[in-house]
Amino acid sequence: MKKVVFPGSFDPITLGHVDIIQRAIPLFDKIVIAIGNNYDKKYMFSLEQRIHFIEKTFKGIDKIEITTYQGLTVDFCKKNNIDYILRGLRNPADFEFEKAIAHTNRVMSKIETIFLLTSARTSFISSSIIRDIIRNNGDVSALVPKVVLE
Ligand code: ADP
Repeated sequence: MKKVVFPGSFDPITLGHVDIIQRAIPLFDKIVIAIGNNYDKKYMFSLEQRIHFIEKTFKGIDKIEITTYQGLTVDFCKKNNIDYILRGLRNPADFEFEKAIAHTNRVMSKIETIFLLTSARTSFISSSIIRDIIRNNGDVSALVPKVVLE
């Protein structure tokens, strides 16, 4: 069974994340969306809220599993028998950053990172910009799944 983990902060989940996940569905048997929760990181949305947004967005899709984790993604993979990490690439900056992480992960384990290029219509979306808009009471309805707006 081809199992992949899509790790991230998802603070909050955006239509960019949704695009990558939907396009990964036909490629894998199981997609584990792993929500990172690190004590030294400050999140806008609580872990419960971030889980709720993702659960509601992908309700009824059997191939998708949602979980939380702390620590290294490779350790999470080893513990859960996952051979692939999925990441989205938006731009050259993402590529440079992700390349270093993927190489490092390969040194630490046999886990391969699979990259999907973002769709043109969602490639500019970022959770940090969305958080900024929310803080300033702006409209993010074109950028996030409906459940986040509630
Ligand atoms: P992290 O803190 O691990 O970067 P994010 O929640 O920001 O967590 O991102 C998780 C994954 O989603 C990363 O692979 C990131 O490149 C990807 N991603 C973020 N925004 C988009 C987008 N607009 N389109 C496609 N992929 C995205």
